[in-house]
Amino acid sequence: MNAAIHVLLVSASVSDETVLTTLLAREQIGEGVKLSAAASAQAFYDALYSEQSYEIIVVDDRQAWSDWPGIIATCAKNRPDALLALLSSVEQPQESALSQGVAAVYPRNSAGLIALTKLVGKLAAQERGFSLRQETDAFDEAEEAAEEERGKLVYAVSHDLQDPLQLARRYADVLNEDFEDALGESGAKVLDHLKFNLGRTQEMLDELLEYSRLQHSRPEKEPVDFNDLLDEVTALYKITLDEIGGSIIRQQSLPTLVVDRRQFLRVFQNLIGNAIKFRSDRPLHIAVRAQRVRNEWRIGIKDNGIGISEEDAGQIFGMFERGSAAADYPGTGMGLAICKRIVQNHGGKIWVRSSFGSGSVFIFSVPQADDAA
Ligand code: ADP
Repeated sequence: MNAAIHVLLVSASVSDETVLTTLLAREQIGEGVKLSAAASAQAFYDALYSEQSYEIIVVDDRQAWSDWPGIIATCAKNRPDALLALLSSVEQPQESALSQGVAAVYPRNSAGLIALTKLVGKLAAQERGFSLRQETDAFDEAEEAAEEERGKLVYAVSHDLQDPLQLARRYADVLNEDFEDALGESGAKVLDHLKFNLGRTQEMLDELLEYSRLQHSRPEKEPVDFNDLLDEVTALYKITLDEIGGSIIRQQSLPTLVVDRRQFLRVFQNLIGNAIKFRSDRPLHIAVRAQRVRNEWRIGIKDNGIGISEEDAGQIFGMFERGSAAADYPGTGMGLAICKRIVQNHGGKIWVRSSFGSGSVFIFSVPQADDAA
């Protein structure tokens, strides 16, 4: 029988630990792997100076208490036999990391965690003969190869967390209803906070599930008049628009395209909903226009809201990514990821042009032959 592989995860993120544990269990190597997590300087040093041997030490590059080269250097000195892996939040830093004793660099996202799980699996299977020093392509390969597994993981995690979350929400309701007197004023405040956060978690999970389903279902295509879609969404937001004195202007007639109607309703709803949510102090004007460019239609939704910084513009289509100015607005950061998935399901692209402070234009394309509709 092989001895268990011990992995030390130096990460302040509880979710990384949860995801890694789930992945290790799914790879069916869980029994052969023991994962310890160190989320603080104290826990890190306790682990490092303990009797426990670690075959792999994984260091997250975003630690509040030290920079990662410092942590790696401490590990290399005290645990010279351990394989050191870095979870990196910036792109492609492997050369500098490798020169500092890191054997493998993985992106700090689910694809990276999946690739890391595979490495642990290989070690657990005692395939120690393969060259760890050659793992330099891990970053690219991980991004490419893990898309499908990422989808499965997203589904499994969001699905499996529904039950315990609903149970927690039910218990919170019971506390609210049956223990009101015992809780007192400050207890009630804590409970409110708890309920708010459970509700938010539920919202995030629901959107994750929706995203995951979109990954696996094929669009049900039919000819859809985008004028009707826009009318429907405008009607949905009519009360809000009237209240804030905002307007939606159709700059020209929109095309009829063969798409999944429900999915593109969601796209319009998200994009127009965001234009309303991220409005500035100026009266809100939203303009919608369509243009045929070669073999595709492009539809643009322009607003005069708070805009998006150049740095944020590259990130906001990712799962749970929110712009730096978004903290004061409600939301989960999943809306644009869902839009991107829908547009990609139809062979198109979505992007944004924006100038911070003066507004944004979100544009999506739908490839379509002239006579398709
Ligand atoms: P959410 O709206 O829940 O934050 P989204 O995925 O819909 O999530 O949007 C991601 C981020 O993109 C937002 O948090 C915000 O920073 C930025 N964003 C999206 N639409 C707009 C817009 N019309 N104007 C300014 N910022 C926007």
